[in-house]
Amino acid sequence: MAEVAEKGSISIHTENIFPIIKKFLYSDHEIFLRELVSNAVDATQKIKKLSSLGEFNGELGDLKIEVSFDKKKKTITISDKGIGMTADEIKKYINQIAFSGASEFVEKFKDKLDGKDIIGKFGLGFYSAFMVADKVEVISKSYKEGADAAKWECDGSTEFELTSAKKETRGTDVILHINTDSEEFLDEWRLKGILEKYCKFLPVEIKFGTEEESVEDGEDKDGKKKYKSVTKDRIINNIQPLWAKSPNELKDEDYLKFYKELYPFSEDPLFWIHLNVDYPFNLTGILYFPKVKNDFEIQKNKIQLYSRQVFITDEVKDVVPDFLMLLHGVLDSPDIPLNVSRSYLQSDSNVKKISQHITKKVADKLQDMFKKDRADFEKKWDDINIFVKYGIISDEKFYDRAKDFSLFKNIDGQYFTFEEYKEKVKPNQTDKDQQLIYLYASDKGKQDSFIQGAKNKAYDVLLLDGILDNHFINTLEQKLEKTHIKRVDSETADKLIDKDEKLESVLSKEDQDKVKAIFETAINNKNMNVVVESMSPEDLPVVITMSEFMRRMKDMAKMGGGGYAFMGSMPDNYNVAVNGNHNIIQKILNSENEEQKTKLAKQAFDLGLLSQNLLTGADLTNFIKRSVDLVS
Ligand code: ADP
Repeated sequence: MAEVAEKGSISIHTENIFPIIKKFLYSDHEIFLRELVSNAVDATQKIKKLSSLGEFNGELGDLKIEVSFDKKKKTITISDKGIGMTADEIKKYINQIAFSGASEFVEKFKDKLDGKDIIGKFGLGFYSAFMVADKVEVISKSYKEGADAAKWECDGSTEFELTSAKKETRGTDVILHINTDSEEFLDEWRLKGILEKYCKFLPVEIKFGTEEESVEDGEDKDGKKKYKSVTKDRIINNIQPLWAKSPNELKDEDYLKFYKELYPFSEDPLFWIHLNVDYPFNLTGILYFPKVKNDFEIQKNKIQLYSRQVFITDEVKDVVPDFLMLLHGVLDSPDIPLNVSRSYLQSDSNVKKISQHITKKVADKLQDMFKKDRADFEKKWDDINIFVKYGIISDEKFYDRAKDFSLFKNIDGQYFTFEEYKEKVKPNQTDKDQQLIYLYASDKGKQDSFIQGAKNKAYDVLLLDGILDNHFINTLEQKLEKTHIKRVDSETADKLIDKDEKLESVLSKEDQDKVKAIFETAINNKNMNVVVESMSPEDLPVVITMSEFMRRMKDMAKMGGGGYAFMGSMPDNYNVAVNGNHNIIQKILNSENEEQKTKLAKQAFDLGLLSQNLLTGADLTNFIKRSVDLVS
């Protein structure tokens, strides 16, 4: 046994630091492995650096990091062949830095923390080992010539022991004696899972156990290939992930392959953006645009956040602007503070800059695609419009960029930029107050009779049937000058765009009042507001509409919009426009008795309901009976 060369006390203010650490980090103990392997990677990168600078002239040798465990001895060991530490360095780095870091940490956060805030985001460094171990040994041999190996041991109290040790090879072994609460970690699949989660893209090979592989072994006497099984190191990581490579050496296949590596079960993405910034902050990454259909399916494939190739989290809120949260891929930045709470992250200026940069890059990419190949951009539009619209709604700066490439799609499947659309509809869709009126359908099938009505007037109808379109329309009305956006079924075709052109009424004022009274009796519903209008004789005899204003209020209430909740409980109010110029109305007026008048009026009203898909249940049954009657 080595002699005890030095005993000492760790300078620390908080006596019982370990219980506190354990409490704060309770649900995320697994990150101890990330921290220790990261330290091993750092130590390995340092020796490589020293070697390349000529400051270390020995053999680098095999630099693999090895993680192993011993179920019987209840230990987990992380071994590296990095720069190692002398006894003095151990004292300096492990004792002072680690433990002063720990007490600072507790000091800083003791009032503010509610535990969960920091979980998974804390670079806890070496001492996170004590979350799972009740004794930690560090055996290290420095790369420095003639350095003796040293061993540091600490049982989780504030006492440590530093002795000399026997170790022939350069580097550091960290041996954790796993505590009884953490024995779950003494398991091959658990450890492999943790390594794959956090260390999958670390830049130094990490070995964890071995695996069998079958390799060619000559040919048998019939000339058939023979195979044999060989045991080889099982390497956990891909040391050169795609995002760390230079975009100009990569092909589309590489990006698609990497996407599959990240999300094995996903459909191919539409396109991607390779981020590569080193000033004024450091950011690399690849953002993929998945195919998102209108149903806004919950995306399980989240963006992964790395710091120098170490996986940190897939909660990228705050780092990535909200409207891009549905993207996939990876971001890697050492400039994102990892060891802070969420509220700090939000106000961090680097995080803000990164988020803005991502927004800009996405806008650039879309702009580029639009310019280069408009036809292809239009093909992708159905999948990407949700990002663009969300961006327009939520981000002023993005709108400024997007207004040039964002598209409107009409019900005939034609695409227009905002500017093109304005020019297209201006001649025929400007009302008497010089307001431009854009018309849209939210349901091509249900609103068909209205769409046809608008088309008869040579109006264009947009298709806005996505889940964000309500908000999108509100935003557009604020942005576009002198423009109103109306759903096609919010008025009768004549009134959609008020051009002050009145069709002559064939009915006298007196007859109009009679018609109104007949319909009111027939409909017998005070939420149906009957008006007699002069429409074209070709229009339907009765057109039922809900005003744009009323419908929007209702929609807001449905979505739980603040002040509109009261609207939810209000009955649906409709306008019943009776077409005074339709010959059926003449017929109704001229019917011999009241009963016949009411019957015909009811029939005409039901036809109006039917064209709107509003006729259901007993009303529908009665309508059919009455129709049969009338036909026979
Ligand atoms: P950090 O890694 O954030 O600096 P740590 O508490 O994890 O903090 O480690 C403190 C210091 O101990 C490191 O900066 C490094 O100098 C040293 N160290 C830790 N692990 C190793 C290792 N495996 N090999 C060499 N030095 C190490």
